[in-house]
Amino acid sequence: MKWITRLKNLGRRHATHTMPRIFLTNTLSGNKEVFMPHKPGSVTLYSCGPTVYGRAHIGNLRSYIFSDTLARTLKAAGYRVRRVINITDVGHLVSDAEEGEDKMTLTAKNEKTSPENIANRYTALFIKNLAEIGIDTDDITFPRATSYIKEQIAFAKTLEEKGFAYRTKEGLYFDTARFPNYGKLGNLSGAQLKAGARVSINKEKRNVMDFALWRSAKPNDLQQWDSPWGKGNPGWHIECSAMSRALLGQKIDIHTGGEDHIQIHHNNEIAQSESVSGQPFVRYWMHNAFLTIGEKISKSLGNVVYLSEISEKGFHPLSLRYFFLQAHYRSPLSFSWDALEASASALNRLWRISSEIANESERKSEPSEARDRFLAAVRDDLATPIALSILWDSLRSEDYSPEEKWGLIEVADAHLGLSLSSPSVTPFVAKTAIPKEIAQLLAFREAARDEKNFTEADRLRHEIENSGYLVEDGPSGPVLTKATL
Ligand code: AMP
Ligand code: ZN
Repeated sequence: MKWITRLKNLGRRHATHTMPRIFLTNTLSGNKEVFMPHKPGSVTLYSCGPTVYGRAHIGNLRSYIFSDTLARTLKAAGYRVRRVINITDVGHLVSDAEEGEDKMTLTAKNEKTSPENIANRYTALFIKNLAEIGIDTDDITFPRATSYIKEQIAFAKTLEEKGFAYRTKEGLYFDTARFPNYGKLGNLSGAQLKAGARVSINKEKRNVMDFALWRSAKPNDLQQWDSPWGKGNPGWHIECSAMSRALLGQKIDIHTGGEDHIQIHHNNEIAQSESVSGQPFVRYWMHNAFLTIGEKISKSLGNVVYLSEISEKGFHPLSLRYFFLQAHYRSPLSFSWDALEASASALNRLWRISSEIANESERKSEPSEARDRFLAAVRDDLATPIALSILWDSLRSEDYSPEEKWGLIEVADAHLGLSLSSPSVTPFVAKTAIPKEIAQLLAFREAARDEKNFTEADRLRHEIENSGYLVEDGPSGPVLTKATL
């Protein structure tokens, strides 16, 4: 028997050896670690998804660009990646601290429709947004919490049977005192955990950090199901534990989310999942830092920006992706329209340069030392700002042949998802936010060109240039960029 195990281990070691080394920062240890999945060659990746009571804002999208860059990096290294992003369509209360009305019920009532209609509308919009910013949504499973009620009940029941839960009038609660490692993610102290949990209205709770696995139905709840604890609905955290187990198995390689989830949501997921399985739930916990717009993004501050606004202002959605990639996913990032405009101009120039190199190289690629440096950067905890600067320097350098540059563009595309090598999604039209007067001058110039009045067309071009914009005639129309960039 022993030699079989040894042979298996040898095979395993060999398989992982053929994979390039990827370093990832693990919130669990607080360190950068070499990535080593449970099964050689394959990765399970779960990302906490949106609560679909409204549109996802661009802060939420930062989280998915981060997990997409991670998935792309793993795939490009040869891993098979199984991805899940859950859709929360029940169970998320207005306050993360176990209080208030369910977000879905509240919105459905305000909009005088059903929670299903609200969920359908915003799930479709969310997935459309992801596709617009270059995420391959066909490659991701998007399970809805309401489709996994049976699994969530079974999960909570197991916890109760194993003695990790207790009943109250408000529903079934997880007993955090039964899980000695509670709060291990982020290495949180008792005081920090208590501050996050806040005081609860449920007086029967044994500890402020205890949380609902199943909530008894309130008279005005629009979503309720039968359960061993009476009619009610699942607690928010149980959804991720039950669905990740159902779709990806008991042990997951990587779990991602925004850093706001570390304290409560992810520590609760760990407590539930590890109490059921008796084994470590997730190998690598990874978290993105927040996007701010002046301050924290919030409806009450009136500073929320959606992807639709970005498109309406004439920016290509991939400009937002470029903007995110310029910062490391673990660094806080501040959004401004000027910064987005700079990203849009830079991306436009990158598209133009790539199209020239496509012609010069005839799309033949060769390896290069620049490509190796690019790979080393993305494999070093997704250092996309460094990768982008390697890309820019190398494409502008005369040290590389067109074929070497094309090789780099292909690799950059695989990791960054900026559509540099596919002209069909490379619209060579104005993609910066253009002031109205400039857009008008451009339209007059086009009209003059159509009439073959080249003197007038040139005069208009100079007028545009004097206003700080550059006009170039691309294969499918004029390209307008800000001259200063
Ligand atoms: P939610 O719908 O609020 O659960 O958020 C969906 C995802 O977006 C979660 O992973 C959050 O942590 C993340 N997120 C929320 N707000 C921001 C933000 N301003 N910047 C970055 N990530 C965010
Ligand atoms: Zn989650």
